[in-house]
Amino acid sequence: AYLDRIETKDGEIGAYLTVTAEQAMKQAEAIDARRIAGEALPPLAGVPAGIKDNICTKGTLTTCASKMLGNFVPPYSATVMEKLADTVMLGKCNMDEFAMGSTTENSYYKTTRNPRGLDRVPGGSSGGSAAAVAANEAAFALGSDTGGSIRQPAAFCGVVGMKPTYGMVSRYGLVAFASSLDQIGPLTRDVRDNALVLSAIAGHDRRDSTSVDREYGDFSAELGQGVQGMKVALPHEYFTEGLSPEIKDAILAAAKRFEAMGAQIVETSMPTISAALPAYYILSSAEASSNLARFDGVKYGYRAEHYGSVDELYKNSRSEGFGPEVKRRIMLGSFALSSGYYDAYYKKALQVRTLIVRDFERIFSTCDFILSPVAPTVAYKIGEKSHSPLEMYMGDVYTVPINIAGVPSLSLPCGCDRDGMPIGMQLIGKAFSEPRLYRAAYAFE
Ligand code: GLN
Repeated sequence: AYLDRIETKDGEIGAYLTVTAEQAMKQAEAIDARRIAGEALPPLAGVPAGIKDNICTKGTLTTCASKMLGNFVPPYSATVMEKLADTVMLGKCNMDEFAMGSTTENSYYKTTRNPRGLDRVPGGSSGGSAAAVAANEAAFALGSDTGGSIRQPAAFCGVVGMKPTYGMVSRYGLVAFASSLDQIGPLTRDVRDNALVLSAIAGHDRRDSTSVDREYGDFSAELGQGVQGMKVALPHEYFTEGLSPEIKDAILAAAKRFEAMGAQIVETSMPTISAALPAYYILSSAEASSNLARFDGVKYGYRAEHYGSVDELYKNSRSEGFGPEVKRRIMLGSFALSSGYYDAYYKKALQVRTLIVRDFERIFSTCDFILSPVAPTVAYKIGEKSHSPLEMYMGDVYTVPINIAGVPSLSLPCGCDRDGMPIGMQLIGKAFSEPRLYRAAYAFE
């Protein structure tokens, strides 16, 4: 049914870069045979999924929506794919090139349309994953979130997206953008599905040196227990100019609903928040400039046809293989790391990072979670902001502090604007508080 749906719908939506129909049918039949034989199957057995195209899938093209990896078929699978071995992969989802962007317009290959309004962007960078779930072209999808790339497309498409605690989900086999910020997480139609997928992909992995060695139970275990007595923080800096009044109203109405269900609303302050966006763009670009150095036209990926020397081979392969946004980040990052500027930019950004971590710690010492917007606007028109990188970056203001601090955040729908476009809200908690975030979100849903 999902493959049929992709067949009829994806021409219009463009959620997928690769559809692995034949392989999916084989996988489904094999799982069904095990079911018929009476085998006790895991909770997600046979459930069809879309996978962001920066997650390595053995034998299946993994392009990161870049010309640079247009021919890259990984010889191994990411740890998350091994953990989801009993699900059925439908295909690989479109994204901004190397996960850099907020609209999926930076894909080298195609435009993805928002299923809730076809002239609108689906958000990004996991726009294909969010659109696939919203259009019923997958039961769930995996995305990656470095500065909002799961939560913002979830908000734009009206689905549920989780950026887990840093270190909870293995990054082995995720093509790195900014290693100290990247996390893989689920996009689903509801909160319970989300908790189930996260339960399946979480866990220690010695192949990822930043993976946390810790046992996780079933993330859906606390669902249904309500929010009685929980303390919900509203930092006023999250509700200042720049935020669309309709979104502000929707979040404040959500706060009222939590209050009516027995939670206590605590107005608070997060003074460092204004420094988060510049710090994010310095840190993430610095890390990207280092991570993307591996794409040199030698080991794998795109190689320029014409070159006269090794230097020219590098230069031409990168010039032709990377798109404009990726080049912008590499240049920004190389500049921030260069001697003479390092202390002024990179070191400063690391210091800001510590202040942001402390700000969150202070709030979470007395509150269960922070309630905030995901993005300052709802999904806008395709092409509306693609001319202005800076304007696009500004849209990440509410999501990047979470990655900087490494804490979890769940994005879930909380209404619509006057045109019927979905509005999302974030529930942000302290590290490893995912069960509580799911519990609160489930009470709201
Ligand atoms: N929009 C942000 C950026 O362009 C976030 C990207 C992400 O989370 N991968 O960097």
